[in-house]
Amino acid sequence: NWDQVKTDMRSAIGVGNFKNWIEPLSLVSTSEGVAYLAAPNPFVGDYVGKTYGDQIIYHLNRQGLAVQRLAFEIEGKANTAVNDAAKPVVRKPTNTLVDAQPDQRFTFDSFVVGKPNELAHAASKRVAEGGPVTFNPLFLYGGVGLGKTHLMHAIAHELGERRPDLNVLYVSADQFIYRFISALRDRKMMDFKQHFRSVDVLMVDDIQFLEGKESTQEEFFHTYNALADQGKQMIISADRAPGEIRDLSERIKSRLQCGLVVDLHPTDYELRLGILHAKQEMFVNVYPGVEIATGVLEFLAHRISSNVRVLEGALNRLYALASMVGRTVTVEMAQDCLSDILRASDRKLTIEEIQRKVSEHFDIRLSDMLGSKRTRTLARPRQVAMWLCKRLTSRSLPEIGRKFGKRDHTTIMHGVRKIDELRQSDSQIADDLELLRRALEH
Ligand code: ADP
Ligand code: MG
Repeated sequence: NWDQVKTDMRSAIGVGNFKNWIEPLSLVSTSEGVAYLAAPNPFVGDYVGKTYGDQIIYHLNRQGLAVQRLAFEIEGKANTAVNDAAKPVVRKPTNTLVDAQPDQRFTFDSFVVGKPNELAHAASKRVAEGGPVTFNPLFLYGGVGLGKTHLMHAIAHELGERRPDLNVLYVSADQFIYRFISALRDRKMMDFKQHFRSVDVLMVDDIQFLEGKESTQEEFFHTYNALADQGKQMIISADRAPGEIRDLSERIKSRLQCGLVVDLHPTDYELRLGILHAKQEMFVNVYPGVEIATGVLEFLAHRISSNVRVLEGALNRLYALASMVGRTVTVEMAQDCLSDILRASDRKLTIEEIQRKVSEHFDIRLSDMLGSKRTRTLARPRQVAMWLCKRLTSRSLPEIGRKFGKRDHTTIMHGVRKIDELRQSDSQIADDLELLRRALEH
């Protein structure tokens, strides 16, 4: 039972974390593999889900509860579930056509547009206008955490407002499979067909999950054709281009390629920074008084290039930390508190690479950069290289020191601080750093 899970969690994560995060939760109910937990506010739910979700599920399972997923209900607000963004909370199927309520957070307003996603955004906007169908389907693809689900929910929101007369149905391919299999089992195929064939806009997320599922693919193909024949809009997403989804029948692939296929590219630095700024604005109200030092967002945007979900998780964690310790978050604190995330998303940039690029950039010899001459023309580039090593890699100060001609770690720290100061006041240095960073990132 829940008390036992709490006890297990306390020994697993320590009393401090336990008091902050687990103690305030209570188990409301479990059903169909989902454990509903009550949390005092959305951010506790969000944080716990991301940080301790797997552990909680593990301990619930040990108590004999067959739970695969957590959903958080916010106390006082019935049903405002906050959970992993990729898994919108599914209400029990009702008579309406909406299987999953669009996530309130995923709107066009909260979607930050940059080069890597501008086409996908524009195409989604077009579909969301609810005008005559111009391309069918809209096929969105891209790696994990780049905003596919966000855009689909945004379309659902906007269509809901502009065209309340339309039946919009959003399902993940998983849900499609599950419903198909249940319908077969319960001999309710007619209901199933009718349900899916009476929609005006069908969105199927993560279609790659149909790989290898032949009978579901067959049904999907017929559903698709029935809707396409009636001129209904379809929006499909996957983590790859249609042609690259291996065990998917050729006839489905060719249908998917008929419309507009757009990809979401990996984020670039500007987009990541934009997303962090937007997120920060949202946090201002939630964590009044919490301050983040300048440079922290830039630091995160530099170092976490993997996916937006990880980036958001990092910022969440920083805010949670700052609100507990009551201090301004500095780059050093971020580096400490996010070391696991930073290590995981390290681009494996080496110190040698940085030194080489910096010496090329300032047109000095590598041996001089590592040597002991202290003329200004050498000392400054050397410090720039130290700064980049500290900020762009996870190497410790002593490690960096060793690679700079066996310098002491305090020398490295001094260099890093110096550049931190200079980049605020000296635009030439700031430009150099920016150029070098770009060169090193690619
Ligand atoms: P995908 O479905 O492609 O795996 P999601 O749509 O679930 O990715 O996005 C992961 C997280 O990142 C979500 O919380 C989403 O809001 C956020 N996100 C992704 N791209 C953007 C963006 N351009 N602007 C704002 N938030 C974004
Ligand atoms: Mg998704």
